[in-house]
Amino acid sequence: MKSRRKFIQQLSLPVILLPFASAAASEKSLPYDGPVLRVALLGLGGYARMVADAMQNCQKAKLVALISGTPAKLEAWGKKYNVAPENRYSYETVDQIASNPNIDAVYIITPNSLHKPFALQIAKTGKHVIVEKPMALNANEGQEMIDACKKAGVQLLVGYRMHFEPKTLEVVRMRQAGEFGKILFFQGLSGFIIGDPTQWRLKKDMAGGGSMMDIGIYSINGARYMIGEEPIWVTAQETKTNPEKFKEGVDETIQFQLGFPSGAVASCLSTYSLNNLDKFFLNGTKGFAEMQPSTGYGPIKGRTNKGELNYPHVTHQTVQMDEFASILLEGKQPLIPVDGAEGLRDLKIVDAIYQAVKTGKKVSLG
Ligand code: NAD
Repeated sequence: MKSRRKFIQQLSLPVILLPFASAAASEKSLPYDGPVLRVALLGLGGYARMVADAMQNCQKAKLVALISGTPAKLEAWGKKYNVAPENRYSYETVDQIASNPNIDAVYIITPNSLHKPFALQIAKTGKHVIVEKPMALNANEGQEMIDACKKAGVQLLVGYRMHFEPKTLEVVRMRQAGEFGKILFFQGLSGFIIGDPTQWRLKKDMAGGGSMMDIGIYSINGARYMIGEEPIWVTAQETKTNPEKFKEGVDETIQFQLGFPSGAVASCLSTYSLNNLDKFFLNGTKGFAEMQPSTGYGPIKGRTNKGELNYPHVTHQTVQMDEFASILLEGKQPLIPVDGAEGLRDLKIVDAIYQAVKTGKKVSLG
């Protein structure tokens, strides 16, 4: 809370577009006393740890429950994050959250293949579903999740943390205001060198693919929010330098191109074989925006033809969870959507990219 307050005091730029602006303004004078989203984390791995830590600084969201298959983790995390024993669940007892009035939403942070089955199970308990990216293994699964949540009368959100990142939002605002002119080109580069060859990220049945599912999806998503349109065609080419590590169906490197209705094109690279590959470049007839790093945990760095983007660094997951609270509890509409439909749009493009790689042909998106 201390660093958040300090950051707010340092904030000198116009804050109208910052997602946390209203909360920030009130924080200076009054402590927040509005509704709080009470969240259970399901799957206590590496990223869940980051979310749990970040949530300690949330104003509108609170970590109140834990769901895990490992009793020792429930115990250790319960103690660390002050989660009462009656709010700790195993995968066998998870359905009992239905009768726990102190939980509003469950955040699923498991290997990709478990997003859909857990989302369907959680929807039935009547709790809102938050799921990590990629939303599912493919578009069919994503659609099933949307249908299940609709049927259960709960909301479905996807953990797109960049959709609340201040420099990203400023570039989107500038593009919307026409400051870059007519957008004709986007470049998205997303990659890192993946370690342990035995991890789930390198197993097709658990990951749904390879680098594209994990990191390339940032370039897909970024192309859409930076250009502000939905692509109508895809072409893609795969390169594999290590077929032993990257087995059949697990992509090491894919370059892909997206075509948009206005005539804009995106040229992107997704890879598990290069570090420090994290760059967005948007070019219009009047100007440009360049972000590098563009989607890492930050600080994000960016500049446009008008100069550096000077917004201070925020912890992405803290802001995301506060914003999710506003969306779920107050019906707030974010500038860039984070609902199931948004997750599904990315998955349809992923499916089309894999099809384009397989056939060598341009794939139309309906
Ligand atoms: P991880 O391997 O560190 O954690 C996965 C957790 O799921 C572990 O605690 C594991 O015990 C649990 N799990 C439950 N059932 C399991 C099963 N049957 N097999 C294996 N593990 C099982 O992975 P992670 O890095 O935390 O990634 C989890 C999800 O979060 C992925 O979907 C990933 O794409 C996403 N993620 C998102 C971001 C982001 O910036 N938004 C960053 C990292 C990961």
